[in-house]
Amino acid sequence: MEFCPKCGSVLIEKNKKYRCAKCNYVAKKKVKIEASEKIAKKQEVGIIKDKDTDVFPTTTETCPKCGNREAYFWSAQTRAADEAETRFYRCTKCKHTWREYR
Ligand SMILES: [Zn+2]
Ligand SMILES: [Zn+2]
Repeated sequence: MEFCPKCGSVLIEKNKKYRCAKCNYVAKKKVKIEASEKIAKKQEVGIIKDKDTDVFPTTTETCPKCGNREAYFWSAQTRAADEAETRFYRCTKCKHTWREYR
C-alpha cells in the first residue's frame, strides 16, 4: 500500500501511477533507488588535525595566503602508485595548508 506523502491518504493506482484521491498528488512509478557508487572520493589533500602539526618539521616556505615564511611540511603518497610523493605545507601562522605542485 502506498501513502500520500502530502496528506497521508492511501494512494490509488491508476495507469501505473499512484494518485491521491484527496489532494490529487501523483506519485511517479516506483523507481529503483540505486546506491550511488560515486560517493565522494576521499580528498587526497592531507587533512590533518591541528595537534598533529606539532610533530612535523618546519621549513622555509612562503605561505601563499598570508606571506608567512615558515611552514610545517610532510609528504604523502597519493593513490596512484606511479606518482611521486607529494609534499604538503601548512603555514605555522594561519594554518593554511597547501600542496606542492610540480
Ligand atoms: Zn494526498
Ligand atoms: Zn599563512
